[in-house]
Amino acid sequence: SYAGVWFRGDVRLTANPAVSAASKVNGREQAIPALLLICPQQMKNHDWAPIKWDLLRRHLEVFAKDAAQQGILLSIEMIESWSMAAKAVKRFAQHHELTELHFNTEYPVHEQRRDRAVTAVLEEQHIKVQQHHGSLVVPPVLTTQAGKMYQKFTPFAKAWREYVAQNGLPVVEALPKRESVAPAKVPVVDYPVRDSSAWPVGEAAVRELLTNYVNKTVCGYADERDIPGLDSTSRLSPYWELGILSPWQAVHLLAQQSAQFPSGLDKGADTWLNELIWREFYLHLMKHVPRLSYGKAFLPHTDAMQWRNNETEFDAWCRGETGYPIVDAGMRQLAAEGWMHNRVRMIVAHFLVKDLMIDWRWGEQFFMQHLIDGSFAANNGGWQWSASTGTDAAPYFRVFNPTLQSEKVDPDGTYIRKWVKQLEDCPAKQIHAPAAWLKQRGRDDYPAAIVNHKQARERFLAAFKAL
Ligand code: FAD
Repeated sequence: SYAGVWFRGDVRLTANPAVSAASKVNGREQAIPALLLICPQQMKNHDWAPIKWDLLRRHLEVFAKDAAQQGILLSIEMIESWSMAAKAVKRFAQHHELTELHFNTEYPVHEQRRDRAVTAVLEEQHIKVQQHHGSLVVPPVLTTQAGKMYQKFTPFAKAWREYVAQNGLPVVEALPKRESVAPAKVPVVDYPVRDSSAWPVGEAAVRELLTNYVNKTVCGYADERDIPGLDSTSRLSPYWELGILSPWQAVHLLAQQSAQFPSGLDKGADTWLNELIWREFYLHLMKHVPRLSYGKAFLPHTDAMQWRNNETEFDAWCRGETGYPIVDAGMRQLAAEGWMHNRVRMIVAHFLVKDLMIDWRWGEQFFMQHLIDGSFAANNGGWQWSASTGTDAAPYFRVFNPTLQSEKVDPDGTYIRKWVKQLEDCPAKQIHAPAAWLKQRGRDDYPAAIVNHKQARERFLAAFKAL
């Protein structure tokens, strides 16, 4: 037998079950052929942000060298469309005379379809295909007693924890030392880039970020995670999205903090674990609810909503010019960094959907086009949660008041001042609704509120109730 690996959203060597499985088949003296396909057309179709591509591009330079040193004979190839994946994988497998191919499962419908096509073509050639669940701690096997997918997060999280308590964590296997091979060349790809150099790349550097976070910072997570001015969340999301890190590595580190893992953790670590479970929940949903892959709402009746979809207002939201400082700060952070604090993502999403009554899909797409961590599952989940078209948490009558939210999460205005330069010297008391303060100074460099929240709230509730 001779096994190869197809890398996709899992550009790492550690905690990668597809790599481990191929490594066992091949024995130490044989290299492991591996393939990675880049398809700019598909990146465009999926609204990959230029900064996300830049992060992957930079990471691939390091990854190609790391892989070569471990005896992984990687080739990175460009394809014009996804429909050519099967052909490219077949050519690769035949070239190396593989008898089996390993890869980690991707859950959305189109990825599943691509992988079925690849599998069919390889099996015709009598090449065995084996898929692994490398991007999840708990494979998508959790169902309710009635055999259905969990519709709500809380019971899902409970089942997730029970599964881990019973089955333990997936084992992270060290790769045996192999002779090094020549590194792959990273092809020049015609796709827009935006500088991502503020974000380290390479497995070793990123693993250090994770270790430091879990060992030093996570203890304060429960108290600090909702305060964007403190900026104390892990900022590891892009690494999970691209598969530079595995969630297995995170849970193993957390497990060192409690012998009864997944229970017995300190409050900070336990709250952070819960966020990792949210990530798994949305990936499970991708697998079990195919309509999500077609842009449909999780709650089908909400697809009848009559959105206002005012383009001028949408534009103001995108540019961070709504006149609601917390919303504008968030959108300006997104523009500047390609990332936004979770609490602020929720506030800007609520504002777009409920105050402006703009279709959540517009916001979902804009986020994908700009986020360095743009993830179909988490982004779709986050937008539908905020729009009240998704699973549990936000009932439609919960409409965030952007000013009250601002006072609550950014009491001294630190976050707003950082991103909205026009309000740099605005005192904390006025910064959340600065119209009077600006007027007193005869200033017109920051916009007036584009909508009256109270009226907008009534308008939204009436429309949603009619559904
Ligand atoms: P931490 O607070 O350190 O959390 C640790 C990890 O848990 C994160 O890296 C992430 O992988 C996961 N996580 C945390 N919160 C969530 C959540 N609510 N849902 C799913 N996973 C979570 N996350 C993305 O990774 N990509 C997206 O495209 C994305 N879009 C979002 C859109 C909206 C409207 C909302 C409300 C949330 C979105 N999220 C998305 C979830 C969350 O905002 C980010 O994961 C988080 O801000 C990333 O920062 P962090 O790594 O510092 O997170």
